[in-house]
Amino acid sequence: MRVSLFRMLGYFAAGLWTAWGGRKRIEARQLRNLRRLVKKARRDSPLFRRLYADLRPSSEIELHDLPVTRKPELMRAFDDWLTIRSLPLDRARDHLRDIRKIGVPIDDVAIFLTSGTSGEPAVIVLPSSFLEYSFGVSMARFDRYQWKLVREIRKLGMRVTVTGGNGHFAGVGFNRLVRHLYPRLKRGLTFIEAEQPIGQLVERLNAIPKVSCIVTYPSMLTILAKEKEAGRLQIEPVLFNTGGETLTDDLRDRVRRVFPSLKYGILDYYGCTECLVMSSVCGHGRKHVHEDWVILEAVDEAMRPVPDGTLSASVLLTVLANDVQPFIRYDLGDCVRFDTTPCPCGSPFRSFQVEGREATLVRVGEVTLSPLVFDLEHEHAQRIQLVQTSERDFEVRIDPAEGVAAGLVFQEVIEAVKRVFRDNGLEGVVVRKSEAAPEFTASGKFHEVLPLRGADARNMTSSGIRQLASE
Ligand SMILES: [Zn+2]
Repeated sequence: MRVSLFRMLGYFAAGLWTAWGGRKRIEARQLRNLRRLVKKARRDSPLFRRLYADLRPSSEIELHDLPVTRKPELMRAFDDWLTIRSLPLDRARDHLRDIRKIGVPIDDVAIFLTSGTSGEPAVIVLPSSFLEYSFGVSMARFDRYQWKLVREIRKLGMRVTVTGGNGHFAGVGFNRLVRHLYPRLKRGLTFIEAEQPIGQLVERLNAIPKVSCIVTYPSMLTILAKEKEAGRLQIEPVLFNTGGETLTDDLRDRVRRVFPSLKYGILDYYGCTECLVMSSVCGHGRKHVHEDWVILEAVDEAMRPVPDGTLSASVLLTVLANDVQPFIRYDLGDCVRFDTTPCPCGSPFRSFQVEGREATLVRVGEVTLSPLVFDLEHEHAQRIQLVQTSERDFEVRIDPAEGVAAGLVFQEVIEAVKRVFRDNGLEGVVVRKSEAAPEFTASGKFHEVLPLRGADARNMTSSGIRQLASE
């Protein structure tokens, strides 16, 4: 796998040129990139050839001509999905089974696994063009503040990534891939596994002489804030980079309070393994989509577009910079809301907020609850997890603080959870104590609330692509 500096500069220059031209140039560029991707997918991906068989010519195609695609169907047809024939699923899985090969390219591509929050993990294939896009276009979107930040962070100490380390996930994998491709960057970058006991993790962080920046999930950030409040964690970073989960305003305020060293605050990125870099955060804290290379569509449950300002039921992702594994109108399941007013930063790119993942919502009967309504914090517990075991049955798992008997903690937490159900008009919901320990997702995220898996019904709806996939 070779990443070309020359092509990266090409993305950078084109990215600047597109932004200078305003909306008209952005939309023209996006359409050109879309038609090129559709043409390539039709030519080289047997799956997309079948799927798009009855559509008009690629040179006339519009986004809304294209059917919605979903992970389970695409994964079932993996060998027909890619536009290269040299990486059948068996070969990809062999590579992914070998833990020593995390972030090591296979031929001309890098491969990662999704965390499987919304069902089966998917295998994600990234060509060098995606990396060239990621660096080139991100730099094109930097403002003066961000250039300064990049320089300062390097000078001020180590940049530490804290995510799941026991698999080919993007958090650890992308880190290793960049180090593999650019050994010179190794200096100043460290990785810490999120799965280890909290005490050990705190010790590892405290042992690093100077930590300037931490890259992690919001759920891990909650844990770090708690350890800092308790006086056990001593680091004084100037910046947190978060992504992969929803960052709430409460957590943002709390972290700013307990880490007075945070000169640059928290930069919350929105990305997923399917498209690690899809937006930039500006100085006003808004997320601006890289619309020349990424299309995000806010849609309702029937996959129809919703107006700006409305919370979507899902979001469709199109990645124009990956022509090896086409993601075109791919149902991501996140709830987003596009902003209705222009951003004070003057960016011509549309901005949006993320309001959580469909897969994390709790459904009981007709009632849908956000995981954020449950207060799962207790001064005598390190971690608390609420698990939905059937529609009306929940269990509470607790990792008690050292030297504390869990009995009273269980009683208080269970009472608080029951109150939430009652307040939402739900009677007869059973909440019981569990002896099991709270668990992380395979990629090292910690979900305080684990809804019933089967509730992710959307991934089970049949669609045209499923039939095509089985042909
Ligand atoms: Zn802005």
